[in-house]
Amino acid sequence: MVITDTHTHLYSEAFDADRHAMIERALSQDVSRFFIPAIDSSHTDAMLRLEADFPDHMFLMMGLHPTSVKANYKDELEHVEMMLAQRHFYAVGEIGIDLYWDTSTLTIQKEAFKHQINLAKQYDLPIVIHCRDAFDEIFEVLETVKDDKLFGIFHCFTGTMEQAERAISFNMKLGIGGVATFKNGKIDQFLKAIDLKHIVLETDSPYLAPKPYRGKRNESSYIIKVLEKLAEIYSLSEEKIAEITTQNSKEIFGI
Ligand SMILES: [Zn+2]
Repeated sequence: MVITDTHTHLYSEAFDADRHAMIERALSQDVSRFFIPAIDSSHTDAMLRLEADFPDHMFLMMGLHPTSVKANYKDELEHVEMMLAQRHFYAVGEIGIDLYWDTSTLTIQKEAFKHQINLAKQYDLPIVIHCRDAFDEIFEVLETVKDDKLFGIFHCFTGTMEQAERAISFNMKLGIGGVATFKNGKIDQFLKAIDLKHIVLETDSPYLAPKPYRGKRNESSYIIKVLEKLAEIYSLSEEKIAEITTQNSKEIFGI
């Protein structure tokens, strides 16, 4: 079985004490493909080290996270552009809009989001979207850039059925993670109505640990809990869910 974690911050300081052991734990449970979203330039070296340590398993993205869109965002975007020009990345991400932490930066968040969508199109790459308290704003931007070069993943999807359908209409797959296992997570109630071809698995480690680890540090091996939950929702074997969602991840990332 091959399980793909399409969104995991394995370079995070949260793993500094036991990173290799934690990654080995995931590998020993068939979680062998890790897609690594960027946050800002302060993490780039750690991402490159991670890739050097596990070259067959780590697939890096490049981008500026919406909560890192601050006064220096133009310099940060230049860093993203420089890295994209230098070497291959598998997606532009994570990018988007976050109005939970800061609403005062909405204008520049939108600008950075649009700019990076255009970079993704320029390099024929998917985008990986971070959306927090910002569905309307994200959809508004996507509406202005929608074309057949736009595709990607709506990471940590936690919206309604209508929002899921809207995201899919923009050529996005839905990244499903720990929230699907929460009692009050809600998406488990309508997920079955969404074709599995639109779904990819993720952990968002070290955040959003699934049940029964909720509130603790998340790690990629816990994706098994998400896999189990989806197998239950879709009444399919875990092997089948792993196979289909890994295939979906290959379609998006090209590997
Ligand atoms: Zn993330």
